Amino acid sequence: MKCQRLFLILAIFLLSCSKDVKTFNKKKPIVEKIQRFQKDQNIKTKIPKQNHLDLYPFEEETACFFNITKEFFRCKGNPLNPERVDTSNPDNVKVYLDCVGPSKHGLPLIHEKENVYPILIDVLNYIQRKTKKRVVITCGHRCPKHNSYADTSNSAKTSKHMIGAEVDFYVQGLENSAEKIVDLIFDYYKEEVQYRGLNDYLNFQKYQKQTDVTTPPWHNKEIFVKIYKSSEGRDFNNRHPFSYISIQVLYDKISKQKVNYSWERANRGYLIH
Ligand SMILES: [Zn+2]
Repeated sequence: MKCQRLFLILAIFLLSCSKDVKTFNKKKPIVEKIQRFQKDQNIKTKIPKQNHLDLYPFEEETACFFNITKEFFRCKGNPLNPERVDTSNPDNVKVYLDCVGPSKHGLPLIHEKENVYPILIDVLNYIQRKTKKRVVITCGHRCPKHNSYADTSNSAKTSKHMIGAEVDFYVQGLENSAEKIVDLIFDYYKEEVQYRGLNDYLNFQKYQKQTDVTTPPWHNKEIFVKIYKSSEGRDFNNRHPFSYISIQVLYDKISKQKVNYSWERANRGYLIH
């Protein structure tokens, strides 16, 4: 009995469904006419462009170069370099040997840690980010022995390279555009003012006194920037044919003190392993 009832219910259900389908097919759709004016025109739309996902900073930077760290500033001395003989004074011929190399001595001690002044690292990374090109550091820290070996001039005897407060560099692919790189350094400070409100550091002035370069240098409260043309400032670390930029630190905004060379800091301010 139960099976018969179920069969009956199923048959009624199927019949009712087929009836609905038939009535649906019979209905004609109502077509509404679209009214247009004579002046009406189709709106021209731009073809949409596909957006590319922004890269994370680490993806972007490792694509063509590495982020600059203090490691890039290590002394470039090498005990295998040949001796250099200075015969400029025949009565006092001097022979210079290079240092033991960066694996045997450290970087200067700054704020009680091996380091260079952080502003140098910040500015060079900014230049890399903006140009998307590699910054080549030709000279970062020089220990006193490598300093004497690399540059025998009198002015080098108090070089801030020895205290981690100076860097020489050029930008690969922009070797002949040193002025544009200096403009980027100015831009770095404009952004710093915007984000951190460091107004004291914004204004750059031209240095009026005579120096060893033909392009008058620029300075603000924190740094001193020089362009060495391809015929200027050649030393053992800068034997390349390009012009290069030198940045010197004048003022340390962390300790709020001027940054000056001293024999003590140059010779006793780093660790020898
Ligand atoms: Zn050295």
